[in-house]
Amino acid sequence: MDRIVHAFLTLEQHLRAVVSTPQSYRPSHCPHCGFGGLWGHAFYGRKADHSNGGELNPAPVPRFRCLSCNRTCSRLPLCICPRRWYAWALQQRVLSLMLFGLSLRCAAALTGLSRHTVRRWWAWLRERTEHFAFHLRSRFPELGRTEGVATFWRACLSLMPLDKAMAWLDRDGLIVP
Ligand SMILES: [Zn+2]
Repeated sequence: MDRIVHAFLTLEQHLRAVVSTPQSYRPSHCPHCGFGGLWGHAFYGRKADHSNGGELNPAPVPRFRCLSCNRTCSRLPLCICPRRWYAWALQQRVLSLMLFGLSLRCAAALTGLSRHTVRRWWAWLRERTEHFAFHLRSRFPELGRTEGVATFWRACLSLMPLDKAMAWLDRDGLIVP
């Protein structure tokens, strides 16, 4: 795993970095076999610009090939969510509304998302909270005393944004959206 590089909060920073410091994306080890030698292997394009015009799409995502097992892997900056097209900030906004007790209908109306999407994200968060909380607490002991889904995430999101929390979980080998 470890798909997310803990840097580059904006797409502009990411675009500069892939040109000026591409080595900052190179994983130390192959996620498949653990070998320590990976070569840059071009880029693939990812929709990542959520602005109206989407002028920065497609964003290049660096890919690497393992010299031992020959498989490839890619690394994403913090500003690109691995499995969801939506920006982390929007996901955090809608989840925060739910965490503070707003109704699904209300959270959807306030963020412009469909109720289906809000329901799915909310269910996803609740289902994984116990597992995620276990990992985040072992890294951030100050989260240790909170109980319940809402209390835990309110404490966590006041300590770090959702993208950072997910990047830590990704580093622990967990699947994040
Ligand atoms: Zn390998």
